[in-house]
Amino acid sequence: MFKYTLDNKRYHTLNYFFRQKFKQKVVKIPIDIDAYCPNFASGGCIFCKNRSKANIIIDEDDIIKQFNNTVKVYDNKWPNSLYIPYFQAGTNTALPVSKLKPIITRLLKIPKVVGIAIATRPDAISESWYNYLNELNNQTFLMVELGLQSSNEATLKLINRGHDVKTFKDTVLKLHSYHIFVVAHIINGLPFEAKEDMVKTAKFLNSLNIDALKIHMLYIIKDTPLANLYKTKPFHILTKEEYIDIVCTQLSYLKPEIVLERITGDPDESLLVAPLWLTKKFVVLNDIDKEMQKRNLFQGDNLQSGDINE
Ligand code: SF4
Repeated sequence: MFKYTLDNKRYHTLNYFFRQKFKQKVVKIPIDIDAYCPNFASGGCIFCKNRSKANIIIDEDDIIKQFNNTVKVYDNKWPNSLYIPYFQAGTNTALPVSKLKPIITRLLKIPKVVGIAIATRPDAISESWYNYLNELNNQTFLMVELGLQSSNEATLKLINRGHDVKTFKDTVLKLHSYHIFVVAHIINGLPFEAKEDMVKTAKFLNSLNIDALKIHMLYIIKDTPLANLYKTKPFHILTKEEYIDIVCTQLSYLKPEIVLERITGDPDESLLVAPLWLTKKFVVLNDIDKEMQKRNLFQGDNLQSGDINE
């Protein structure tokens, strides 16, 4: 059995990581504070649905209620689990620290809360946020989630990410200088990328000693610039088999210590244009397991010292 899993997976699972760290099941609970994204000032990422509530009024009680309601569901299912509130949607550090700090302080007082996860963009962490993240990291287990999507500059321009690879790298290094756990997000199947580009992105994250990774499959959502691009300049959408092949190869180049938080996408079916195979999440996950088995491959098997220091 692979060292970093509790089941038949051949990659480092989040469940394994949490069980080692907290000796209990831990569930990340998504919280949506309607955080806006500064990238929408220049149109936003082409695959993203608009989140432009710039003048947000956060009702702290509502956020705590939102968290407690979700926890109730998990408490029924796994009564012994612990929780990490996950500020997921939008660019959470684009808000002033003073807006989030009181909510986080309240969440951390809730029994069974053992950490905080905050999603943001690499170009949206101010000095006051770094100071607060440092403080928070000394107080609890903190995960900061950053989108990279691709290490190919041309792709970042095409998808209108609004930042370059260097910005991502510098942000990871700075967070790591505070010993903060960093989760990177990447997308496979971005327009006009080849398998080599996606494998290169995985190798790049390896070189940065990223702590955890979420691998997404690109999906096209209705009424987005990406949906328009697909109509006017159709690009290849990965088949399930191609996606599985790429993920297995990426896993083989990642250090075994890197935690895989996600290795497929999870689209809202009502808005999905393509690919339809992505709606069968468990089929994709099982097929990845089968392919790793067929190739007798484990995470990190193809690592060479050049990949680590690249
Ligand atoms: S950074 Fe995130 S929220 Fe902002 S436009 Fe891109 S995908 Fe959307």
